[in-house]
Amino acid sequence: MAYEAFWKEDSDKLSAFEKVKLQKDGLDMIRAIIERYAHQGFDSIPADDLDLFKWAGVYQQKPKTGHFMMRVRINTGIMTSDQARTLAEISRLYGRGLADITTRQAVQFHWLTVENFPDIFKRLEEVGLYSFEACGDCPRTIVGNPLAGIDKDELLDTKALVDEVNSFFVLNRDFSNLPRKLKMSISANPYNNAHAEINDLAFTPAVKVIDGQEVVGFHVMVGGGLSAKPHLAQKLDIFVVPDKVLRVAEGVATIFRDFGYREKRNHARLKFLIADWGAEKFKDRLIELIGDLPPRGEDKTAGWQAAFFDGVHPQPQPGLNYVGLNVPVGRLSADELAGLAELADAFGDGTVRTTMSQNAILSGVPDDKVDELLAAPLLQRLSPSAKPFISRTVACTGNEFCNLALVETKKRAVSIAEYLDEHLELDEKIRLHVIGCPNACGQKQIADIGLQGALVKTPEGMAEAFDLAIGGTLGGGDAGPAAKFALPLKGRVPASEIAGVLEQLLLFYKNERQED
Ligand code: SF4
Repeated sequence: MAYEAFWKEDSDKLSAFEKVKLQKDGLDMIRAIIERYAHQGFDSIPADDLDLFKWAGVYQQKPKTGHFMMRVRINTGIMTSDQARTLAEISRLYGRGLADITTRQAVQFHWLTVENFPDIFKRLEEVGLYSFEACGDCPRTIVGNPLAGIDKDELLDTKALVDEVNSFFVLNRDFSNLPRKLKMSISANPYNNAHAEINDLAFTPAVKVIDGQEVVGFHVMVGGGLSAKPHLAQKLDIFVVPDKVLRVAEGVATIFRDFGYREKRNHARLKFLIADWGAEKFKDRLIELIGDLPPRGEDKTAGWQAAFFDGVHPQPQPGLNYVGLNVPVGRLSADELAGLAELADAFGDGTVRTTMSQNAILSGVPDDKVDELLAAPLLQRLSPSAKPFISRTVACTGNEFCNLALVETKKRAVSIAEYLDEHLELDEKIRLHVIGCPNACGQKQIADIGLQGALVKTPEGMAEAFDLAIGGTLGGGDAGPAAKFALPLKGRVPASEIAGVLEQLLLFYKNERQED
């Protein structure tokens, strides 16, 4: 039964939060914050409204002292130097100088108060950035190829397409009450730079001969997502030309809104509907809604590079290069973010790019300026040639700020990586992802080694520990290796022993591994 009919006839079945959403649109919170709560203060905010603050892109953080996390959408991970400077200034003014790059290419602040929000919204809007709907049950930050426009391998530059889809959905009240979040990915890079299979809706590169002409377009995957019950997205048998991407995205969001599950929050993502319907039925519904689409063409995904770009690489534009930098566990200071903006202007094309591996890229650097850029003091820490383990370590927010976390993650991840870099030499780079709870914001299921925070009993009381999973990967399209989630290992390792245990595990791997 479609959404409207469902809640009118049978609203008793809705989850408690769905009932709140029936009374108020989350987007109303933006005006309420600006006109009311920013003046009346944190204590004036009713609990229901506080839950709906997510639509403004803010969550209450830990410790619960009236402070908030704010997430800012960076479409396809590409921002101008002015935008980066604005983010740095917000961080400096209100966020105690922290700015985290997330695994969805967004930028997060911490320590904000409700009084800060109107000025922050204004500063963001002045440079064309928004936190709106970066959280909440709505279409979220659209991830994409951070190399769009400078990528010698991409089939087409997808930046304008991502902007078009983003503009359609942000603040669109037709889609501001979905059953849960809708995560989209749009990329024409053959190395799966936007992690297609773990998105609710993904557009991946493809070609098809139509009327005797080879047309560049997209294949479509639906129903991916991680958290406690991870699903890989399923392929639909359709080919989509760039002009129809928005129509398909609107169609998928419409089906999700009208038929997605709303009884239980943990069973409401699109992945559960797709698992029940199957790809074929979903495709039929989509075509019924938006009109006919041709069947799949030739898949152009050829591998997965896990969104790591470290080092200096030539662009298709003659004489220009992009430089991939390591941002350890995605954490920047305000000064570093402002410093990246300065370097982008002084040496590059004035853009700062963020990746799903929580790192950064400077682009448009002429051949004769590369050495000077590499000598910049900022690149000592944000290195293009960081040591192997720290260069491949990803970590979620953890219990420093996240109310759901069981353990500290970012500092722990850095110390594990530093230990392994000091004690172990391998001829390949191992991707280590550390998360603080089963929600998997740090994407442990796609890691070579995934660590999930847990607690163990000790004589001294409860202590931090980790569950391990190994061997996760995303896929390489029709012809490449298949995606598979990391396999959980038995046992739970106290956090104090985890670095040594990983050293042993990796030594075993080094000595025992077989071809492929
Ligand atoms: Fe918080 Fe869990 Fe997400 Fe980490 S994975 S940021 S602990 S909700």
